[in-house]
Amino acid sequence: MKEKFCKDCGHLLTEKDYTNEGIVPFCNHCNQYRFPAFSTAISAIILNPDQTKIVLIQQYGRKDNILVAGYVAQGDNLESTLIREIQEELGLSVQSYRFMSSEYHKGSNTLMCNYLCTVNSENLSGTNHEIDHAAWFTFAEAVREVKRDSLVQTFLHRAIDSLK
Ligand SMILES: [Zn+2]
Repeated sequence: MKEKFCKDCGHLLTEKDYTNEGIVPFCNHCNQYRFPAFSTAISAIILNPDQTKIVLIQQYGRKDNILVAGYVAQGDNLESTLIREIQEELGLSVQSYRFMSSEYHKGSNTLMCNYLCTVNSENLSGTNHEIDHAAWFTFAEAVREVKRDSLVQTFLHRAIDSLK
């Protein structure tokens, strides 16, 4: 997604060559490059302590089974966002995690960064009220229960393959 105007001064952006980056939007008024802005979010494949099941959630009023996810706030980082989101949404503590892969999601202009995590308990009674439903699924069930050909399904396949 390309911005047409400078986010600071509102002047129309031009384009200028930036070393090793190619053509980048440039504000002649501020004399600065304006790289296109996008959001960053974490998404979490959450395993039970035995590492045999994955938790999927449904947000309030929605039917799709999805992964726990959350936007990274300005000034924050991926790891603390991951640990905080899982605590806030499920009331569970992350015992270990590792980065899996990232994909750009065009619809929301967001770079999704997927982690594989193991939590301390299977108890979902501390789930946040903004979540309608949270449940554990076997790996095979989880792949079937999410939207076909979605980013969630891609992330699930990669994580499950990495556990074999
Ligand atoms: Zn400007």
